[in-house]
Amino acid sequence: MAKARQKRCPECGVNFRYGAVKDHPGFPFCSERCKVIDLARWLKNEYAVVEDLKEGLDLKANVDLDQIDDPDVRAALDELRGET
Ligand SMILES: [Zn+2]
Repeated sequence: MAKARQKRCPECGVNFRYGAVKDHPGFPFCSERCKVIDLARWLKNEYAVVEDLKEGLDLKANVDLDQIDDPDVRAALDELRGET
């Protein structure tokens, strides 16, 4: 028999014991109820992972190359531009 371990539910914060992950349908949550609540939050886009990724891409696209002051990057850019 697996040794009981303890974990804090990321949804409701309660400490719960579990033996094996496969015997605990709601894992890593304390119950299936908390698992469903978390899933519903994802589905409602409250975590907004996709939006964050898009913003990151936009930031990269808007980088002003002339504002980069890392000497190695500058040298590489100058080389690319033929301004060595
Ligand atoms: Zn819970």
